[in-house]
Amino acid sequence: MAITSNAPAAEERVLSTLNLDGTRRLIRPKLSKGRFYRRRLVTAWALIGAFLLIPILKMGGRPLMLLDIPRREFTFFGTTFLPTDTFLLMLLLFGIFVGIFLLTALLGRVWCGWACPQSVYMEFLYRPLERWIEGGRARQLALDASGPDARRILKHVAFFAISALLANTFLAYFVGWHHLISWMSSSPAVHPAAFAVMLGTTLLMFLDFAWFREQTCIVACPYGRFQSVLLDRRSLIVGYDAGRGEPRAPWRRSEQRSAGDCIDCQICVSTCPTGIDIRDGLQMECIACTQCIDACDEVMDRIGLPRGLVRYTSQEQLASGPQRVLRPRLVVYSAILAVTFGALAFSLGEQESADVTLLRGLGAPFQVLPSGEISNQLRVKIANRSGADRSYSFEVATPAGLTMVAPENPLPVAAGDDQMTAAFINAPPSAFSSGELAIVLRVRDGVDFDRSFDYRLLGPSGGP
Ligand code: SF4
Ligand code: SF4
Repeated sequence: MAITSNAPAAEERVLSTLNLDGTRRLIRPKLSKGRFYRRRLVTAWALIGAFLLIPILKMGGRPLMLLDIPRREFTFFGTTFLPTDTFLLMLLLFGIFVGIFLLTALLGRVWCGWACPQSVYMEFLYRPLERWIEGGRARQLALDASGPDARRILKHVAFFAISALLANTFLAYFVGWHHLISWMSSSPAVHPAAFAVMLGTTLLMFLDFAWFREQTCIVACPYGRFQSVLLDRRSLIVGYDAGRGEPRAPWRRSEQRSAGDCIDCQICVSTCPTGIDIRDGLQMECIACTQCIDACDEVMDRIGLPRGLVRYTSQEQLASGPQRVLRPRLVVYSAILAVTFGALAFSLGEQESADVTLLRGLGAPFQVLPSGEISNQLRVKIANRSGADRSYSFEVATPAGLTMVAPENPLPVAAGDDQMTAAFINAPPSAFSSGELAIVLRVRDGVDFDRSFDYRLLGPSGGP
């Protein structure tokens, strides 16, 4: 059924997804199966396959990707960033941001059109299913006007099932595949919180792909808004060559053509998934999906004119012909990217299989024991990044003659986990000089970790 409103009509369209009276304008794009569509199809299914497989795959015995938010541990390509790796994580995020800047300055919104999960799922999973069940653009528009029937209900059931599958896969990135399987194979009453998250994610995905759709790109996605800052006049865009296309005029087979090459067939508009007219110039709503290129190329083929009236180009190329691709901002972004990832790779290469932190005990800095010895409490915190469960033993390497009392020595630490234990080190008062005694603490795991740490015990300052 058509959506109507009593609101006063605007003088011109504000958003491609709104009618003049402010009601939702449903976009039912016509599929254009050209050369770019075929390439995007292959890319999209490779990405969907990767999305489904990544939570299952392992690298070096660890998940390929796991974002364990409660434990603040993030694993990428088998490398785990622990909570103590804030600097490395910052380097990684900074590198990703600069990478996005570089990619956008060079290739415009290539991410949006070719790789963003919103576009990939919408155009290569949900929309093909919609066309299969409801029919093409004309049938869908007729359904919009007449109101839902059994086909539309069936489509929504299918959409919900796919959303549940994608939501479960999405959750596997945060909880791991094994957890997810055990949750799925047991009653929701056993894990109500996890079930609520799974259901909420499914509903969000369903609402996004069944109802909100292209509006995610147009009004919700911050990256789309970012474009005006990141794009420059030489960035790659999908553009209409107005110099060649204007003035537009309908095609007449017999007539000697004096107008421009655009025959105003509107096919590039009816194929656009965000509902815009590429001939109006570069617009924020354009996600560079290339559907209008494929549509117009097909029209040009049919009327015997060269392809490329709508094509990959840049604002500067459209205005003044060929241009240099290299420009200062690309060099600067590339240099920053190289330094950032170089520093990250170096830091990761320098990492050992465990992080050891020595902390003073809480409360008084030292105690005088009945025997006269000075006792210092020490807290030993060990993060195990070896990828296997390990036990760490620690001892005072120098000076000789000190005693250590530690309830948990060796200290077992599971792979990727961290543990802290207390130890008491007792020394004779005569060992202290000016209230301090320098010691070396040796920590070993019996496999490949063996390191010595300097530490200072505190004692009475009136010593020799
Ligand atoms: S204008 Fe063309 S490239 Fe941009 S979103 Fe529409 S169809 Fe895709
Ligand atoms: S498809 Fe090409 S010829 Fe047709 S309206 Fe669009 S730009 Fe003009």
